[in-house]
Amino acid sequence: MFNMVIFGPPGCGKGTQSKRVIDHYDFLHLSTGDLLRKEVASGSAMGELLSKFMDRGLLVPDSIVLRELFRYALAQQNYPGIVFDGFPRNLYQAQLLDRVFYKRELRIGLVISIEVEEEELEKRVIQRSLDSGRSDDVPDVMHNRLLVYWSQTSPVIKYYKRCKRLVTVNGMGSVDEVSSRIFEAIDNKMAQIKKI
Ligand code: AMP
Repeated sequence: MFNMVIFGPPGCGKGTQSKRVIDHYDFLHLSTGDLLRKEVASGSAMGELLSKFMDRGLLVPDSIVLRELFRYALAQQNYPGIVFDGFPRNLYQAQLLDRVFYKRELRIGLVISIEVEEEELEKRVIQRSLDSGRSDDVPDVMHNRLLVYWSQTSPVIKYYKRCKRLVTVNGMGSVDEVSSRIFEAIDNKMAQIKKI
């Protein structure tokens, strides 16, 4: 099983690119943002609590995210791989994912970090706030989400770099161009793993 993470700041295109990867490789798409939004849409008391964090652009407490994630992931079977999108969001989540996987003799084989110039990121974020319809895609909240990314999420990059699982991909250019860079990174990694 080939498990990977697609990683990057809000506006880098990780949602779009994750969907392309799952279509291309038939992997399972595991987006914690989607799982949490589903819970909010259900109108449950938990959903109400979640929206208090999400509507402010803050991270949802680890214990809740992990419960949602593992409840969903463990119910899924028969996929050649998983693409984690929006998870891990901090060092604790990254280490925990490795520990849980290790116990099941699984591994995150590849972490793609999509890099986009700051100016372009701001342009995309503003555009998204105009047409996405998501309650956390408004300019103030987007600003918070970027701050949260740089303070809590970006240290995860170093963690994966240290254990040589990180590949950075240039996120500038058309969606197709970025996809083909990502596919190339995945194909290279799969070929490497086959050789071992
Ligand atoms: P996303 O769709 O990945 O941009 O996530 C939307 C929102 O869901 C984030 O701003 C957080 O409030 C919450 N969220 C998603 N994934 C996580 C996670 N792994 N840890 C904590 N909060 C998360």
